[in-house]
Amino acid sequence: MPSQRGATGLAGRIVCVGIAAAAVSTGWAAADEEESALSFTARSRSAPEDGGVRVDHEPVRWDPSKTAAVVCDMWDAHWCEGATRRVAEMAPRMNDLLHELRRQGVLIIHAPSDTMDYYDGTPQRQLAQAAPVVDTEVPLQGWMSLDPEREPALPIDDSDGGCDCEPQCEQGGPWTRQIAEIDIEEGDAVTDSAEAYYLMRERGVENVLVMGVHVNMCVLGRPFSIRQMVTQGQNTVLVRDLTDSMYNSRMPPYVSHVEGTELVVEHIEKYWAPSTVSADFLDGPPFQFAEDGSSAAGGAL
Ligand SMILES: [Zn+2]
Repeated sequence: MPSQRGATGLAGRIVCVGIAAAAVSTGWAAADEEESALSFTARSRSAPEDGGVRVDHEPVRWDPSKTAAVVCDMWDAHWCEGATRRVAEMAPRMNDLLHELRRQGVLIIHAPSDTMDYYDGTPQRQLAQAAPVVDTEVPLQGWMSLDPEREPALPIDDSDGGCDCEPQCEQGGPWTRQIAEIDIEEGDAVTDSAEAYYLMRERGVENVLVMGVHVNMCVLGRPFSIRQMVTQGQNTVLVRDLTDSMYNSRMPPYVSHVEGTELVVEHIEKYWAPSTVSADFLDGPPFQFAEDGSSAAGGAL
């Protein structure tokens, strides 16, 4: 997947737009003025006709009872040691966010793919399995690949698997469950399939916060993640400081690992869904990996 474009291909003026006044006009559920509403700022990108990139920050208010948080592939172990380390580093902050969202009434859906055996027979697994199948206009797929009708190639070349370690790790599938630092509580669901969407429909969920890994792969392609949630018409937002990429900085566009992640976040903001940060829901700054010397991840433009 050679990809020389990306943020550098969009070189030019970056327009930073402040808080838009008319959130209601966007079709996002913004009419709910109850104090119990989940409120955050959504960052998105567009290409105005006069060139450059326009960055919008828009206030969003969602009804927590119509909102789900999807935790994508936060496994106990990855074949890449660096990826495993970064998931462990991110997990406590994600757990804090999930506790806060749960407290506000958001449905938490844990989606550690390929490890459903571990959860067999648990109430959380049974909750997802019990959701009535929905006949969707666009079929939910096991994987939704890059959609050339909607997006160009990803701005990073992950064709080598994206391991940033030296020497590179041997690929495999060592995951057995979700990382233990993320609590799975009463009322949560566990699934790795279209059941997630069926459960959302059963609950009247129209809004989805997606977090987890990896932003250039499963966070886009899985049946419960961004491309398919957007395709099904869900209001979808990526939690951009609680994700990571599989990107090797020795591959194009030869930027740091964290900058590679940020480029994919920008791709998503432009072609698929806005993003937000955990700091919109929790005290403290957005999460940052220790190896991130810059403010790329979660940084505010
Ligand atoms: Zn590795």
